[in-house]
Amino acid sequence: MSGLNLAQQDAVNYLHGPCLVLAGAGSGKTRVITHKVARLIQTGMDAKRILAITFTNKAAAEMRERAKSLIGRPAKDVVICTFHALGVRLLRQDGQVLGLKPQFSILDADDVTSILKDAGGTTDAATARQWQWAISLWKNMGLNASQALAQAKDDNERVTATIMARYEERLAAYQSVDFDDLIGLPLRLLQEHDEVRDKWQRQLGHVLVDEYQDTNATQYELLKLLVGARGGFTAVGDDDQSIYGWRGATLDNLRRLPQDYPQLKVIKLEQNYRSTSAILRAANNVIQPNPKLFPKTLFSELGEGEPVRIVDCDNEEHEAERAVARMLSIRASGGGKDWKDFAVLYRANHQARIFEQALRKAQVPYKVSGGQSFFDRAEIRDLCAWLRLWVNEDDDPAFLRAVTTPKRGIGHQTLASLGTFANQYKLSLFGALFSSSLGAVLSARALGSLQEFGRFVNDLQFRARRTEGAEDAKAFLTDWLKDIGYEKHLYDSEESEKLAASRWTNVLEFCDWMAARCGGQIDDTAGVQVASEKKTLLEVAQTIALLSTISEREKDQNVVTLSTLHASKGLEWPHVMLVGCVEGMLPFKLGDDDNPGGKADGPMSEGILQRLQEERRLMYVGITRAQRSLAVSWTKRRKKGREVVAAQPSRFIAEMALEKATTREDPREKLRALRAEFAKKSADSAAAAAAAQGPA
Ligand code: ATP
Ligand code: MG
Repeated sequence: MSGLNLAQQDAVNYLHGPCLVLAGAGSGKTRVITHKVARLIQTGMDAKRILAITFTNKAAAEMRERAKSLIGRPAKDVVICTFHALGVRLLRQDGQVLGLKPQFSILDADDVTSILKDAGGTTDAATARQWQWAISLWKNMGLNASQALAQAKDDNERVTATIMARYEERLAAYQSVDFDDLIGLPLRLLQEHDEVRDKWQRQLGHVLVDEYQDTNATQYELLKLLVGARGGFTAVGDDDQSIYGWRGATLDNLRRLPQDYPQLKVIKLEQNYRSTSAILRAANNVIQPNPKLFPKTLFSELGEGEPVRIVDCDNEEHEAERAVARMLSIRASGGGKDWKDFAVLYRANHQARIFEQALRKAQVPYKVSGGQSFFDRAEIRDLCAWLRLWVNEDDDPAFLRAVTTPKRGIGHQTLASLGTFANQYKLSLFGALFSSSLGAVLSARALGSLQEFGRFVNDLQFRARRTEGAEDAKAFLTDWLKDIGYEKHLYDSEESEKLAASRWTNVLEFCDWMAARCGGQIDDTAGVQVASEKKTLLEVAQTIALLSTISEREKDQNVVTLSTLHASKGLEWPHVMLVGCVEGMLPFKLGDDDNPGGKADGPMSEGILQRLQEERRLMYVGITRAQRSLAVSWTKRRKKGREVVAAQPSRFIAEMALEKATTREDPREKLRALRAEFAKKSADSAAAAAAAQGPA
């Protein structure tokens, strides 16, 4: 019981009936779950009868580690997993009664798109993805195809429901399930088969659910059937952190618990152990206007701490530079020793790129979680394969990727023969190309094209070694892309033109970035201006090849985290930078262009208000990830597609900067006043931040 306050102990000791722990961020809800798992085992429950459900696989792994450190070996038998992994377990064991073989396959999103294209008779991936989205939402609401059809509101929905029926037939024929089926099918299993339901209810002694506020309707029913009337469960959650409404999560699940389980014990935790008072106050101010499901207050005894910094920036590049400068200055002043103490949080995946570039430039190790790293994108990996080959022609994986991307009429057969030959003579693939005996195993034509490719690569190496400055490097890269026909390759291989265009934009951006590195421009990343020397493209390529391994090598190690707000849920870092806090991003665009809902005095429909409430919760999640320092930044201009547009600071910035908690009235009233106040405050804090951060 050490390391738990009285309310937490209460929750941990309440072993037999249904229990709901409802509390704000950082109040030790997840800690309660871990300790309760240990407590249940100590009181004699077989570890195999305990099921703890987490929101992500990573959270499950972490919980297992913590449980192990509390009780040792028995922790390994506890079932700790996500709802979806639980679904796989249920279906593998008992899915036969639904006609599903135990070795059924689970489809990923791409598989689903292509099956839907087929089912709906279209070649357009975007249309198929729209169906996918709608079908997923229906499934999460517990509707099958005929129920979806019955409740369809317009022709569009009716068409989608018909396609859903065909899609379901195909999945059954392929013995496959999609992600949503991993919840929906186990639910059907328990609803329709009493013997299976009884078995699981006897088997499970206690079920614990973390992040309960983000469960959806099917998960609620599944949980209910698993625990039975006895209700041996512990759910922990925070209604202010419900941020997956767009995926079907519903706060009704919190409202329904006391109704479905009248004996429910509700425990509130009020002390926050994570953040300083300054950070907590900002969080409380932002969430204040939202309607409250249950009243709760949060306090911290960690002291006032540093004020929350508002950082205003000219544009996204500037913002990224300042974020990196801030990390370096906090490290320099001894405030954070490790890179893993820092996190940069943003609204949308695509915002990561600029921060990645700035971090690479400053040689700061990082990882991108909850989204794809810019350098992990297929097109960038294609290009990096070529660069790696220029730097080291014996890099076989790079060789294979470059020789086939774009296709140049060298087939698998030829490459297989080349591979066998190279193996036999202990050569690299490239090294084997000009070996005199290669002609014996290849046709003259195949040999000709391979050697032509080899000469082409040698040529590129030669020229890359001699580029002079940014312009020259840019010209060289442009010629090279044209020579290999990369743009055409993208448009040929990508079905949607829009996607191809966006991948091509990534390519151009990558080349610009490379060329700029060759230019010997001013490098002010470290807050100190140093003129870096001009580099040849090959020298730059060398460092890129090195850098591209940094994030892989240091996975989960001592690295800065870049994450979407959604993926940051449940986590904490000493220093958090919340970036891109402009109207239209955070809060996200609330309405259409005519009625964006972003205007403080504009009309606000019920739908817009609800979306604003979820955005508010997202901001609250972001703020409450910070333990010791929080910087919130916004940019005066931002990229919108390929345009640059003027941007307004997020309304949340003005709200969080308030000294005292505000009343819970209509937020629009006070926004005008807040904006004025904000203008003054942000000028003050920008001056303070600039003073603290030095010349950056
Ligand atoms: P979130 O809502 O963000 O998921 P949470 O309520 O699950 O937060 P935890 O992650 O369990 O909160 O705890 C937040 C931090 O406070 C952790 O670092 C945890 O170790 C610490 N903590 C929790 N309870 C206590 C306690 N009684 N004494 C000391 N530290 C505690
Ligand atoms: Mg938690």
